[in-house]
Amino acid sequence: MPKERISRIVVLTGAGISAESGIPVFRGADGLWQGHRVEDVATAEAVAFNRPVVNDFFNKRRREVEKVAPNSAHRALVEWEQACGDDFLLVTQNIDPLHERAGSHNLIHMHGELQRIRCDSCGESAPFFADALAQTLCPVCGRAGGLRPDVVLFGEMPMRMEEVFMALSACDLFVAIGTSGAVYPAAGFVDLANQAGAYTVEINAAETERSPTFHERLTGRAGEVVPDFVASCFKL
Ligand code: NAD
Repeated sequence: MPKERISRIVVLTGAGISAESGIPVFRGADGLWQGHRVEDVATAEAVAFNRPVVNDFFNKRRREVEKVAPNSAHRALVEWEQACGDDFLLVTQNIDPLHERAGSHNLIHMHGELQRIRCDSCGESAPFFADALAQTLCPVCGRAGGLRPDVVLFGEMPMRMEEVFMALSACDLFVAIGTSGAVYPAAGFVDLANQAGAYTVEINAAETERSPTFHERLTGRAGEVVPDFVASCFKL
């Protein structure tokens, strides 16, 4: 790790950081997401043609995150943000609320949030902690039938990408934690950071498709590796 020039930091997290909190990662060994084919429950087409199935899948995911707690990796990132202030940006692909539950503020949920709902009737999004059913009324416009999870499904555009690209183009340290590097555009962030001259670090329990692209790889569980890594950055 270069010692002098680390001031602007971008951290990208994926499902692996929440695995030790008890939230399963994206693709199991069977290639399914919690027993479902992605195209059945997590695509724009599935919302168009089978909205109740999509809502049912995300209702279950929403209930799952009610009681889960952040782990030591989420907490270490909060300490890092507190030490760096606005020079620290956390971008997560996760739709769970564990980063904000730990206390992160400078946070972008590029794939949306489980605990928000969107309405196709009025186009608005709002906090939401219940089940979305066919008869559930939109908390904003009061109409039924248009609700869908406020998450980015396959075939849809990730959120707040301009802010993320700006931060990547100006960062000098980029760290990717617990992400398989299989879902774009997040998988390409390391390339943008490298082009910007940043030092790039991957923290993952296993090698990924993108591993060779990083300057440094730390192998292990996020709950163990991330606190040590953050502590080592404080000593620079
Ligand atoms: P992924 O499931 O494709 O990959 C998870 C990665 O985490 C793997 O590379 C795995 O080796 C690593 N990993 C597993 N356990 C780990 C641990 N304890 N410590 C460190 N690394 C660990 O996840 P992804 O790359 O984030 O892509 C998944 C997509 O699915 C995202 O777009 C996200 O929106 C969605 N998703 C979100 C959640 C969540 O919110 N927690 C959960 C599942 C899926």
